[in-house]
Amino acid sequence: MRLTKFFLPTLKDDPVDAVTASHKLMIRAGMIRQLTSGVYSSLPFGLIVFRKVENIIREEMNAIGGNEFLLPAISPAELWAETGRLEDYGDLMFRIKNRELVLCPTHEEVFTSIAKPNLISYKDLPQVWYQIQSKFRNEERPRAGVLRGRQFTMKDAYSFDSSWEALDRSYNDMAKAYRNIFTRCGLDFTVVSAHSGAMGGSDSEEFMVPAGAGEDNIVISEDGSYASNLEVAVSYKEKVDRKNSDLAAEEFHTPDIKTIDELADFTGTKDKSHLAKSRVFVNAGKDGNEYVLTLVCGDDEVNEMKLQNYFGINIRSAHNEELMEITGADAGSIGPVGLKNKNIRIIADLLLEDADELVSGANKNDYHLKNIDLKRDVKGIEYKDLRIVKEGEETSDRKSKIKITRAIEVGHIFKLGTKYAESLGATFLDAEGKENPVIMGSYGIGVERTAASYIEQNNDDKGIIWKGELAPFKVILISLGGKSDEVKNISEELYGQLSNEKKIETLYDDREGVRPGVKFNDADLIGIPVQLIIGEKNLKEGNVEIKKRRTGERFIIRKEDALNKVMELIKD
Ligand code: ATP
Ligand code: MG
Repeated sequence: MRLTKFFLPTLKDDPVDAVTASHKLMIRAGMIRQLTSGVYSSLPFGLIVFRKVENIIREEMNAIGGNEFLLPAISPAELWAETGRLEDYGDLMFRIKNRELVLCPTHEEVFTSIAKPNLISYKDLPQVWYQIQSKFRNEERPRAGVLRGRQFTMKDAYSFDSSWEALDRSYNDMAKAYRNIFTRCGLDFTVVSAHSGAMGGSDSEEFMVPAGAGEDNIVISEDGSYASNLEVAVSYKEKVDRKNSDLAAEEFHTPDIKTIDELADFTGTKDKSHLAKSRVFVNAGKDGNEYVLTLVCGDDEVNEMKLQNYFGINIRSAHNEELMEITGADAGSIGPVGLKNKNIRIIADLLLEDADELVSGANKNDYHLKNIDLKRDVKGIEYKDLRIVKEGEETSDRKSKIKITRAIEVGHIFKLGTKYAESLGATFLDAEGKENPVIMGSYGIGVERTAASYIEQNNDDKGIIWKGELAPFKVILISLGGKSDEVKNISEELYGQLSNEKKIETLYDDREGVRPGVKFNDADLIGIPVQLIIGEKNLKEGNVEIKKRRTGERFIIRKEDALNKVMELIKD
C-alpha cells in the first residue's frame, strides 16, 4: 500500500479526552474516530487490524467445527420478553421506538429461535454456531475508546448438545480455541473463573489481559496455580477464634460512632475482626422483597457479587428508610441481635462461624452490643463465604499468596445449560424418543477490545509496537526521496519486490515533500515491526538502513542484501 493513496490521518498530539494508551494511540495512529459517545468509526488502518483479529477467530472457530452465521442486528422485543431479558437488561438494551424491535446486545435468543425448529433429534447434535457482528449496549459509562463502546463487534458462539458430558466437551474445545486465538493475537492473558452475571448458570471462565486500563480486578497466586475474578475469589484465613467465655451480651452507649474505625478507636480495639460489620440487602424477587443482613469482620467488605450469586441478580443495598424499618436503627448502629423485623435472613461470613465476644450495632441508634455469641444469640444464622479477598492472603491450599491486578476481559466462555432452551421451548428427542431441552453454551470475544488490549500491552512513548499476526503491515518502506532519482528508483524496486514477489504486507511511505523527521515519527507511531529506510546518504555508499521498531536496533546493509535481511527480521 502506498501511503499517498492510503487514508492514514495521524496526529502529533494526544487527544485531550483520552486517558488510556490504546485510546490515545488508536486515535493518533488513525485507526478510529469517535462519532458520538461510545460509538466509533473504524478507519482503514484500524479496520485492517480488526479484520486480522476476526480472521484468527474465524480460523479457530472453524477448526473446532463451528458454522458461521450472520444474524440480524435487530430483533423482535417479544423474543426477549419470552426469556425475561427484555426486563433484565433494563436500560442497557437499546429499544427501537417506532417498532417493537430491539438492537441485540447479544444473540442467545435469536440463535435459539433458529435451533428450536431445526435441531430436533439427538442426531442433529452437537452443533457449534457463531457469527462476527455488531452488538449494541447502552453502556452507562462508555470509556477508553473502543475498550467499552456502545456499538462493538463481537464474535458470539453457541453450542448445542444433548447431554451435560457433551456440553463439557464443547466447552473444553471452545476453551482451547480461545487459548489459540489470544495466543495468536500476541496477548499476555490469564484465564480466570468468573461469575455468571445476567446470563444465569454455573461454569464460566473469562479471558483476562492484565493491564492498568482494565476495569476488572483479578486475583492471581504467586505460583500461578490459582486465577480468579475478584468477584468470586477465595483465599485462606484463620477463623475468628471462639473464646467460650459465655459473657452476657451487653449494650453500651456509642454516641456518633458510625464507622468501624471510629468504633475501634472508641473501644480501643486493635484487631477489628471481632467488630462485626452489618449491612442489609434487599433481594427483590417476584414474590416480594426478601431482606438479608450480612455480617463480616470489621476489616472486611461484603463481596456483593458473591451475594448476588447466592440469590440471583436482584440484590441491592437497603435504603435508609428501609433500614430503620427493618432493623430499628440507621446504618451505623445495626447488628444481628434485636432486629425489629424478625423476618430477615442473617448470613455471616465463614470466618465468623460460631464466633463469640463480638461487638456489633444494637439496632438502636448510638448503641452497640458487646459479647455477642453468634452460636448462642442468633438463631437460624447461616454461614457463607461473603468477603472480598485481599492482596497477600494465602491461597485456599495454603501453598502460595495472592496478588490482585487490573485486567481487561477480552473473552468469556460460559455453560448456559437449559435456561434459554427451556424458556423458548427448544427441545430435542433423545434415543428413547423422550423430549429434552437442548443444553447450551455461550462464548463471546470482543474484536475491537482485543485489538485495544494488545495495544495496552505493546506500546512505548513513541507509539504502538506491532508483532506477529496482528501487525497490519510487516514492513514500512520509508523513502527519503529529496531530489534524488536514485532513491526513488531503488524504493520503487524494493517495494515491488516485497509486495509482489515476496507477498509481504508492505506500507510504502512514498510521500514527497515530507520531512524525514515526520516520516520517522509516523512510522514509530503506527508501529510497523520493520522499517526499511532508503536515503541519499546511505545509498551513495550502496547501503540502506533497517530499523526494528520494538528494540530500536539499526542495521546498515548493502542494498542488494536488503530483501533478505527484511525477510529474516519479519520472522521474529
Ligand atoms: P463487561 O463485563 O466488560 O461489560 P460483559 O461481561 O458484559 O463485559 P459479555 O457479555 O461476556 O461481556 O461479552 C463478550 C465479550 O464482548 C466481552 O468479553 C468483551 O470482550 C466484549 N464486550 C462486551 N461489552 C463490550 C463493550 N461495551 N465494548 C467493547 N467490547 C465489549
Ligand atoms: Mg462477561
